[in-house]
Amino acid sequence: MRPETRVIHAGRHPEEHDGAVNPPVVRTSTVLSSTMGEWERRTAPGHKGLTYGRHGTSTTRSLEEAVAELEGGFRSMVYPSGLAANVGAILPFVGTGDHILLPDTVYDPVRRFATNALSRLGITASFYDPLDHVALTAAMRDTTRVVYVESPGSLTFEVQDIPAIAAIAHARGAKVVMDNTWATPLYFQPFAHGVDVSVQAATKYIVGHSDVMLGVVTTNEECWKQVKTCQLDFGQTASPDDLYLAQRGLRTMHVRLRQHWEAGIALARFIARQPEVERVMHPALPEDPSHELWQRDFLGASGLFGMLLRPMPEAAVAAFVDNMALFNLGASWGGYETLLKPMAPGTVRTATRWTHEGPAFRVHAGLENLDDLLEDLETGFKAMRARLD
Ligand SMILES: *Cc1c(COP(=O)(O)O)cnc(C)c1O
Repeated sequence: MRPETRVIHAGRHPEEHDGAVNPPVVRTSTVLSSTMGEWERRTAPGHKGLTYGRHGTSTTRSLEEAVAELEGGFRSMVYPSGLAANVGAILPFVGTGDHILLPDTVYDPVRRFATNALSRLGITASFYDPLDHVALTAAMRDTTRVVYVESPGSLTFEVQDIPAIAAIAHARGAKVVMDNTWATPLYFQPFAHGVDVSVQAATKYIVGHSDVMLGVVTTNEECWKQVKTCQLDFGQTASPDDLYLAQRGLRTMHVRLRQHWEAGIALARFIARQPEVERVMHPALPEDPSHELWQRDFLGASGLFGMLLRPMPEAAVAAFVDNMALFNLGASWGGYETLLKPMAPGTVRTATRWTHEGPAFRVHAGLENLDDLLEDLETGFKAMRARLD
């Protein structure tokens, strides 16, 4: 089956639910047994059905099975947010005295988790240039347990050479943990490129409607037990209602992503042509420094990219934003709506030098009519220009 067909069918078992096309929302904490025999069956190791609400219900299994199949991994586990999933993918592999490597372009809350929580546990995190394999090789220590990758990187969209990085990590016995949220499993297959553990902030494209916080971790067979044990030990779980909405979003993800991809390219091209723009950062554009790697390893592009403006007064930036009706400011992405988010990558980076001096935005291309979006942008740039004259 091709990926678009898997999106429709993965994890659904109508035959188990009286033919109902969607998995029912099974909400429970307690699971009742009316005989000692039933109790013993339910509590025996390896029991496949319900055990306790926190351990998940058939609603949980349905989404986990679907995401594992799409990512091409062994099994998936759910977490109450994308960030909780990022944490749940790193913690199983590290203890006091260990070291992990994170790309300088990592999603900033993961950087904060590493520098705050991990350092208090005596675990050292260092940051590497996402494109410099010589420096990465040199940064590997005997205690390095995880080489974390995020491709393309948060805010600046550098595509990493995952197979090359996996070879460097595996040569020293480290696991490769990837944040695969931007591409989703439809546009990047992590396990086919040497990744051991993959994270989806399902809040973004899987849910797709800006109404649920959710994370999913998928592992290969070798890493599954370690990650699952950690998930259980930390009491991580997710609400059946949220899991239901995530599987509902998933069924249309391939259709939505095509539109996000097409709109993102069109908006990025339009933005790149404006004289006030220094450049856009979008790996699917042929002139982007990451384009070749993106073309080699990715099957598509989502709707998220970056734009760098030439230095200009704050009033001109405000006129740009304030005069657009469809480009509103907001965190998160992956929903149906177009978004802008002001960004300043230079303020957090430590392993690379960010030299851009003007204002910068992250852009999420939503599912609105493309001409409406382009006309709105045109209005914004005109208002900006009026402030520059
Ligand atoms: C948003 C995001 C996360 C975190 O997801 P939340 O559900 O907001 O916690 C993790 N990684 C990336 C790349 C993200 O964009």
